[in-house]
Amino acid sequence: MHSTYSLDGNDTIAELCTQAIDLGLTHIAVTDHVEWPPNGHHQRPDFDRYFDELAEARDRFTGQGLTVLSGLELGNPHEHRAETEALLSRYNFDVVIGSMHWLDGENIHFTSCFDGQDPYDVYGRYFTQMAELAHTVPCDIVAHFDRIFWPGTQRFGPPDVMRMQGVVCEALAAMAEHGLVLELNTRFLTYAPSWNDSLLTVLRWYREVGGTAVAVNSDAHRRTEIGRHHAIGAELVTAAGCVPYRRQDHHMPA
Ligand SMILES: [Zn+2]
Repeated sequence: MHSTYSLDGNDTIAELCTQAIDLGLTHIAVTDHVEWPPNGHHQRPDFDRYFDELAEARDRFTGQGLTVLSGLELGNPHEHRAETEALLSRYNFDVVIGSMHWLDGENIHFTSCFDGQDPYDVYGRYFTQMAELAHTVPCDIVAHFDRIFWPGTQRFGPPDVMRMQGVVCEALAAMAEHGLVLELNTRFLTYAPSWNDSLLTVLRWYREVGGTAVAVNSDAHRRTEIGRHHAIGAELVTAAGCVPYRRQDHHMPA
């Protein structure tokens, strides 16, 4: 989840913790954004302050049964490997998420990233870059593999994932090879049944190429979003024959 240390986060770490306890959760991870937008305005939390605030939250909430994990979400870290490595060796994050937010300088949250292009070419390049991310960045989880399908659906209708099986499976195989966990982002689960069927197809491919664990993630940017659609996500993971991700203790490369 994201706190006020992300530009698009709404609630403080303490507010997220309080909500998590109210929901009966035992573990949360606060994974704020690190971004290198093409405009050159590098976005990154003040991690010294972040870790201070996280320590305060641990002091306050551990006794109430909540484990608060540290983390970050790196946007396109394969394109910024030296800075990524410096960051990961300076701080000891419990959970490192890598995600695709940019494609050839375009913001993939906007339908304009498809301007003048065949959507399946755009999908293809997106998953090719995701494979590169998985091969080159030591993260734990690859987030919202289906993010590009949102603007694509708004513009062209739901994508036919069967048309991109090869390139999607290459990205999934890269994750499986390096022990990266696939995230099923629950924000996307409100779509029609055909949408969930596409996600299920991708989860099954992930399993076929050697993946096992899937992280069902609310991607909450505000406290009211914590745990959203978790039951639907868990059902899809089970239907695909995968298992829910359980974080292992690990150490990032020094
Ligand atoms: Zn993201």
